[in-house]
Amino acid sequence: MNREEVENGGDDMLIDRDEIEQRRLENAVPEGFNADYLKAYYGKIFPYVDMFKWLSYGNDGKHPGCDHSYFGRREFSFTLDNDIYLRFQSFNSVSELENAIKEKCPFKIDIGPVYSVDPSKRHAYSQGGDNIFTPVEKELVFDIDISDYDDARYCCSGADVCLECWPLMTIAIKVIDTALRDDFGFSHILWVYSGRRGVHCWVCDGKARRLNNEQRAAIVDYFRVYKGNENSSKKVSLVGPALHPFLVRSHTEVLKDYFEKRLLSSQNLFLNEERFEKILEMIPDESVTSELRGRWLSNKRSREEINVARWDQLKNLLQSNKQKGQGLRRCIEEIVFTFTYPRLDMEVSKHMNHLLKAPFCVHPKTGRVCVPINPKNCEEFNPSAVPILSQLLGELNTGGFKGEGDNEWDGTSLGDCVRYFRESFLQPLLKSCKEEIETSYNAKVQQSRNSISW
Ligand SMILES: [Zn+2]
Repeated sequence: MNREEVENGGDDMLIDRDEIEQRRLENAVPEGFNADYLKAYYGKIFPYVDMFKWLSYGNDGKHPGCDHSYFGRREFSFTLDNDIYLRFQSFNSVSELENAIKEKCPFKIDIGPVYSVDPSKRHAYSQGGDNIFTPVEKELVFDIDISDYDDARYCCSGADVCLECWPLMTIAIKVIDTALRDDFGFSHILWVYSGRRGVHCWVCDGKARRLNNEQRAAIVDYFRVYKGNENSSKKVSLVGPALHPFLVRSHTEVLKDYFEKRLLSSQNLFLNEERFEKILEMIPDESVTSELRGRWLSNKRSREEINVARWDQLKNLLQSNKQKGQGLRRCIEEIVFTFTYPRLDMEVSKHMNHLLKAPFCVHPKTGRVCVPINPKNCEEFNPSAVPILSQLLGELNTGGFKGEGDNEWDGTSLGDCVRYFRESFLQPLLKSCKEEIETSYNAKVQQSRNSISW
């Protein structure tokens, strides 16, 4: 008997555990992804009500200030099994949304903007007149994909991701989340695992949803430090006499530690000549690079310490070059930024009418659910531990740990994810939406009173 069994009360517990395991095996669903699995997921688990409440932003209530057309003006798009792509879908209620998803069983659901008019009726407005068809609201979104980091990681490439390179996504969440909250004052931010190789961010504050394309581009520009291109060894250029406070904070609070304590060794950034040459190319001083190159080529250290030792030598040499000024010391930061700083898909964030995959979709290649990630403990997030479809269906069959509510997801390992979404994201969001609706309604009432009293 092991320690855990003793603590759990001995033999009785052991039998229960065996029974549960037996039931789990009997009800196990073969791994994979197919339309039948997806049907069962949409039939029993997908959190329709939470999605509807989120995208209604308080407008589904009874308050006279609610805009009951709001949800119905939102574009959804469905990608079906046979790659048929249905754009401009819209729904007037949670049951319409639920029925359409259950009926069409989309392999992917994307969320677009809220338009000036119901997007499914857009053709009626295309003739001109007052009701032009145009996007009026959209969450500010960010899309970060690990395949954009291929020159900064050696463990995987393309769509592959492992626990050695996933910290690059953790870094991105930490840096962007802090800036969105502290520098831009946003507070309703949802991070979501994309199901395979990256993360999505939805900024849902009213003032974020109403940003125009120009303002979105300005925010994206705030985050931009990459001035190079595919052919340039220098991906980062930190110009000016002093770094922007946002970059200083990102460097000292996140990037430096992740670079020196994790990625330097886990990615073996200085392992061999090919790799260290890539880093030396970022130093615009021939005397420094040739000295380091000479040392490293002649001194073959053991593999464990080689990355840290070479990084220390590089830093010491650059920092000691006082007569050559700031530029060389700035190289140290540029190297750290090159290997750690978030790489955003700018186009996704810049345009209001860009679509982004909905949370709680299932990725067809991995079968994993696009679950929310809590930015407060994002370093604990493990993409390989995210619930997969077959596992959830097995848990439904077992019913071994069914929750208290009516929701089927409550009894599955998706339960914690939906609860996090509901309690940490949705509840505070809806509270501030209600306040906003109340405030703007009162202001309108006051305004009409004033105009009557004239
Ligand atoms: Zn990897």
